[in-house]
Amino acid sequence: MFDSYGRRINYLRISVTDLCNLRCKYCMPEKGIKKMLHEEILSLEEIQSLAESFVEKGVDKIRITGGEPLVRRGLLNLIEGIGNLQKVKDFSMTTNGILLGKYAEDLKNAGLNRVNISMDTLDGKKYSKITRGGRLADVLKGIEVAKNAGLTPIKINVVLIKGFNEDEIESFVNLTRYEEIDVRFIELMPIGALKYWSLNNYISNNIVLEKVPELTEAAATDISSPAKYYKLSAGKGRVGLINPISCKFCKNCNRMRLTVDGKIKPCLHSNEEIDLKVPLRQGKNIGELIDNIIINKPKEHNLEDGNYISRNMMDIGG
Ligand code: SAM
Ligand code: SF4
Repeated sequence: MFDSYGRRINYLRISVTDLCNLRCKYCMPEKGIKKMLHEEILSLEEIQSLAESFVEKGVDKIRITGGEPLVRRGLLNLIEGIGNLQKVKDFSMTTNGILLGKYAEDLKNAGLNRVNISMDTLDGKKYSKITRGGRLADVLKGIEVAKNAGLTPIKINVVLIKGFNEDEIESFVNLTRYEEIDVRFIELMPIGALKYWSLNNYISNNIVLEKVPELTEAAATDISSPAKYYKLSAGKGRVGLINPISCKFCKNCNRMRLTVDGKIKPCLHSNEEIDLKVPLRQGKNIGELIDNIIINKPKEHNLEDGNYISRNMMDIGG
């Protein structure tokens, strides 16, 4: 389905939980978050039902995210349910990778196509520090198991953090030299409870091109992707730069986000949300509501300077 600016809206990102087994300093407060009540969050059956309604309206690309999706109990049933939808051509997940060693094969068998894995450092001690206790070895194992299970192409997400990982840019870029892996550097976004942390630790991803001048622009394979891609000469994978704040990709934006409590965010950088949970529970016509949401998708970011998104990242899923 097309919105009123002629954009084909075919991509739905679903946050399946606001909980996580890590506490990344830029995303999750140290003590965790106030747990939502059971009835506040969508059940897996409700997520499946909404996903089906979106697919009927032309969505053919779905990403499962969170919080950490792999901590949601019963998730494999949802993966199987969505994996069985014939019209979904690209079915992926963003995960911190900690539990991938355990679940990658089941995920693949249930119909998931591929995974993006978040890993902000290649140093075990630094990993434990930024995630407040995570074990890098678990993620590295998860990547291997995911690769062997065929959850490919694998993309690694690296959030750039001032004074923390600029010195590892070359090492991350080097991963793309011999492996068919895309490494994507993401600029910190001021969002939710940790917005000031992000503002204080922000660095522009221009630093990647300064540190690795050998990178040259790669042909775009997907114009709706927020990543601008580069390559090392003869590199097998690609290096992506993602500036989530820039408006440069609004004109090709094809996505909507379903929050953990059943709200649609038609634009990440807006506080506007449309509830689908209550209408779904009341048996209303969800297809009609989706038509409206798509038609009214904003043209571009509409947050005034100095205003930030109030939701926490784990409700939205990035
Ligand atoms: N737990 C999973 C993970 O970490 O991959 C999925 C959810 S996480 C919210 C999705 C992505 O958002 C991750 O790549 C994470 O690094 C990124 N992210 C979280 N907070 C961010 C922020 N303030 N700015 C930019 N990216 C952020
Ligand atoms: Fe958890 Fe992902 Fe947020 Fe880290 S970025 S705290 S892994 S949801």
